[in-house]
Amino acid sequence: MTTAADLPDIDPAIAPSGAGCVECDAAGGWWVHLRRCAACGHVGCCDSSPSHHATKHHEASGHPVITSFEPGEDWFYDYRTDDMANGVDLAPPTSHPLDQPVPGPAGRVPSDWQAQLG
Ligand SMILES: [Zn+2]
Ligand SMILES: [Zn+2]
Repeated sequence: MTTAADLPDIDPAIAPSGAGCVECDAAGGWWVHLRRCAACGHVGCCDSSPSHHATKHHEASGHPVITSFEPGEDWFYDYRTDDMANGVDLAPPTSHPLDQPVPGPAGRVPSDWQAQLG
């Protein structure tokens, strides 16, 4: 039986799941910033986004470490310690495409998105 404790915190061989949040892309949603699960490659939206899918993925999977999926950012975060964590070089790409806007994706961000985030 596999438990959360058996899962690797970070698997550098696994590529990210895609260019956008998995759940938002499935539901037609939008996000502010993207986070990548360092254990399985799941790309989810940040806690400033409407749906918080990166944190929901952590809660559902037990995967403890995320890294930024934003261009130019290379930090890692560990939910267990609520602190920044040491990372490793992960399989590319390490961010969403540079031409993908923030917030994103193009065409799905409401014009009053700042008001919606309240
Ligand atoms: Zn999302
Ligand atoms: Zn994961």
